Amino acid sequence: MEQNHFGRLRALAHLGAGRSAAFRYVALAVSWLVLWRLSALMQYDPHASLWFPPAGLSLAALLVMGWRALPVLVPCAIAVTFWIDRIYGTHFPTRELLASGVLFATVHCLSYGLGALVMRRTIRRNASPSTPTVVTTFLLVSALASLCATVLGIRALEATGMIAPSTPSLWLPWWIGDLAGALVLTPLFVGLLSWRYPQIEPWLGGLSFLPQSRGSGSYAGKLALEILAVVAVLAADAYFHSPETAFAMFFLILPQMWVVYTESPFRGALSIALVSTAIAVLVALFGITRDALVYQFAICVIAASAYFGFAVPALVAQNRHLSELASTDGLTGAATKTHFFECSERELADSRSQGLPVSLLVMDIDRFKAINDGYGHAAGDQILLNLVRTLRHQLRQSDLIGRFGGDEFMVLLPGLALDRAEATAERLRRALTELRMPGPDLGLSVSFGVAAIGDGESIMEAFRRADERLLAAKRSPRAADETVT
Ligand code: GH3
Ligand code: MG
Repeated sequence: MEQNHFGRLRALAHLGAGRSAAFRYVALAVSWLVLWRLSALMQYDPHASLWFPPAGLSLAALLVMGWRALPVLVPCAIAVTFWIDRIYGTHFPTRELLASGVLFATVHCLSYGLGALVMRRTIRRNASPSTPTVVTTFLLVSALASLCATVLGIRALEATGMIAPSTPSLWLPWWIGDLAGALVLTPLFVGLLSWRYPQIEPWLGGLSFLPQSRGSGSYAGKLALEILAVVAVLAADAYFHSPETAFAMFFLILPQMWVVYTESPFRGALSIALVSTAIAVLVALFGITRDALVYQFAICVIAASAYFGFAVPALVAQNRHLSELASTDGLTGAATKTHFFECSERELADSRSQGLPVSLLVMDIDRFKAINDGYGHAAGDQILLNLVRTLRHQLRQSDLIGRFGGDEFMVLLPGLALDRAEATAERLRRALTELRMPGPDLGLSVSFGVAAIGDGESIMEAFRRADERLLAAKRSPRAADETVT
């Protein structure tokens, strides 16, 4: 009975999963056909549409679903060959149409399928791809896949007699139209599909396309401004009949970048899609298809720049991370030797201009090797970490702490002359003896060398003097470790 019940539940779950998969396939097919019909409405020459949105959906579906998208895309691409025959009333024989449809489907799916494959491979090879990698790969793949789809698509139409051989003026509008569709719509469709296929998220490289619950009021305002700008440029072009007006569309990049830098990636992608649709629909409505190529280029340039815009914050963060790695010691967080001397030069110049003294402390842990040998390197590391924490706690914000290497550290003390610097060293030495150490109840013993940086003396010269004093302190009997400098 129980088993029967579970069996039925499992069968129901299977049925549910099957139904939802079937629903997804049907929704994909319907969306693809609707987008194709829209692009056919926006055609200004046979086979040359202002943009070709199905390219974006095909690339997104192949990216997210892999080859599982083919059973939907292939029949759709064949069906539209018959559809276009009816739209233009060309009445080609069914066999020719079928041959042409199969060729078009092959070329379309092969181009975008290979593009998706390259993108999936490139990104998967990276354990956690950065946004700039994702964006650059996407832009390159879109450009090459749409070029491939164009060149092979024209060859296919020529081979099946659908167009006259060698129509040289066709390839550029076809390519840029496909590219515009792929650039503008792929990220949006990837975002929409990734709600259903969450496995896509990890390789979007920090581009979370999931909607975020932020206020939508200002976003609507920005969108309205963009659409207003589009209408203004297109109306001016239609009214003045001056093709030069079309170039003003490139200024749309400014409000678009504003959206990209202030809204979520999903909203950025949505606004590119809405603006591009508005351009394509209004160009057709106003009948200004003579400037179609300019608008196609504008759409591509705006979309490509916007996607680079998504990558900028990630690039800045990456650079900051790299410069942090170069300027701070990984274990203790103290400045690296190079960074310490760079900052010290600036600080010294600053203090000298104000007539203030500057001193330098150099310190080295006594018998540190014995701690490492006796209690292990992890215990040694913890002591180095605690030492820097104590220095930070004891010193002022303006004092600079650096690690020379190993167990040797240095501190720049702006505003302190030799006597006060020596007093500071003594205070630090005492504070460090309070540090808890492994083994016998002994405090941490540290030797110091102190030097005030003389007028006209370089930091390196002062550092050498301080280091000599440190060595002298080291050379004195260990009991004399208590004596500073
Ligand atoms: P002295 O009293 O003369 O300073 O002797 P010492 O044992 O402290 O010797 P010295 O300063 O020459 O050696 C420093 C030791 O610090 C050598 C090295 O094994 C150890 N060391 C260097 N870097 C690290 C580190 O990042 N972590 C740990 N745990 N040990 C380090
Ligand atoms: Mg030492």
